[in-house]
Amino acid sequence: MSSKYNIIYASPEAVPFAKTGGLADVAGALPKAIARAEHTVKVVMPFYASIDPQKYEITTLTKKLILKLHDREIKFGVKSCLDKATGTEFLFIDYPEFFMRDALYIDPATSKDYKDNDERFIMFSRAILETARFMDFQPDILHCNDWQSAPAIAFLKTQFNDDSFFEGTKSVYSIHNLAYQGNFPPETIIKMGYDTTWLYPMSPFEYWGKVSFMKAGIHYADVINTVSEQYAKEIQKTSEYGYGMEGILRDKADSLFGIVNGIDYEIWNPMTDELIPYHFSKDDLSGKAKNKAELLKSTGLPDDKIGLPLIGIISRLADQKGFDLISEISEIMLNMDLTVVLLGTGEPKYHTLFEKLQKNFPANFSANLKFDNKLAHLIEAGSDMFLMPSRYEPCGLNQLYSLKYGTIPIVRKTGGLADTIDDYNEKSGEGTGFVFEKYDAEELLKAIKRALQVYRNKDAWKKLMISAMKKDYSWNKSARRYIELYSYVLSN
Ligand code: ADP
Repeated sequence: MSSKYNIIYASPEAVPFAKTGGLADVAGALPKAIARAEHTVKVVMPFYASIDPQKYEITTLTKKLILKLHDREIKFGVKSCLDKATGTEFLFIDYPEFFMRDALYIDPATSKDYKDNDERFIMFSRAILETARFMDFQPDILHCNDWQSAPAIAFLKTQFNDDSFFEGTKSVYSIHNLAYQGNFPPETIIKMGYDTTWLYPMSPFEYWGKVSFMKAGIHYADVINTVSEQYAKEIQKTSEYGYGMEGILRDKADSLFGIVNGIDYEIWNPMTDELIPYHFSKDDLSGKAKNKAELLKSTGLPDDKIGLPLIGIISRLADQKGFDLISEISEIMLNMDLTVVLLGTGEPKYHTLFEKLQKNFPANFSANLKFDNKLAHLIEAGSDMFLMPSRYEPCGLNQLYSLKYGTIPIVRKTGGLADTIDDYNEKSGEGTGFVFEKYDAEELLKAIKRALQVYRNKDAWKKLMISAMKKDYSWNKSARRYIELYSYVLSN
């Protein structure tokens, strides 16, 4: 077998085209890093309303492909654009009825999942395979991500099992968050093109009486991975992390791996970042203070607060991210000598909480309840510390961006945070952040107080910033591990 592989990398989102979270960053960068190692990679994702074809020079390859979605015939198109630097081709499944909407998964009108998410992503999953055939691109590897593309793996191993086109194709399933499983009512099994005999207790699709796309992906994939080694261990242990999938994950332990995400230093680099006003590096940190001033100004905080430590938070506002702990200590924290800039959207209860806190602490708390990529870059560049006390964290990207921008992470020791941030040792000066272990508000508060204490010692803080900025989490290393995973699965 040749050691250069044909890879279909399927994802429901990818930077710069569409993003709701970390998966988009991964899908926008990892395929390119793999292509740089001279493999042929085609990324397949839906063509959403938010994607501007002119901006990305997207062309139409066909409008005439047909697939069956249960009893309906669906005619869809494929669009394409090329990342010239690496040769990675991005292919877009064009089916307006499903994807030309205001949002990716959640209906803004109801704040709930779109009712037809099962059909949308069954269609997407089948279209992934049909597109490979249309392109006459026989994949060695079908690499699917999260529940939205998991059915493609099940289809490959069942409905396409005798299809000689996919004879040599092995499948890799990456889980970016166990909590989002794609679980649907029993009748979804019919929409997937199976009859009801496929859904019985403990069947590959069955999860507590429902149809689970993620479970099917886990069951049928040749190998599975999650996005950090620690998270790969945690999800097998208890339901707190495994969300009910821990049993099946334990059954597949021999083919379950953890590969920590990298980050794209072409986008997240304080020396070149196009979205921040002042560049800086570990050799010349002067631009960081200027970004801090700009951040205070643009988020409505008084500029006389520049001497106080500034804590940044950028996150989905979800329990997973530790907001119950933050809310427990919020008043105590905001009564300390510091400022906090928060950027995020999510659960309404946190919107209410942060609006209230902003009213009560207008001089040192700024709540920016929106999705704003430019502000996210400025927060990384202008903050002194970054708060990420997650209950669980598959990998986490913001702590990695923070390292690069000399913004010291305060994190809970879980998943990718445990794998990437070393606790600061006051005696030796080693470490890259402030880490606490128990999911507890007091512990979080202690970690913040430790950080504030060290911040007062300007020399120690500068050394800490430089240690953080020296860390290398570029994709190259992680991409090599994915390629090793492909080699492993193809030789077994
Ligand atoms: P998750 O995927 O669980 O949401 P990650 O840390 O892996 O968390 O990735 C989140 C990504 O989304 C990061 O790139 C982060 O900067 C970005 N992000 C999250 N919320 C916002 C927001 N409100 N505005 C801009 N970017 C955001």
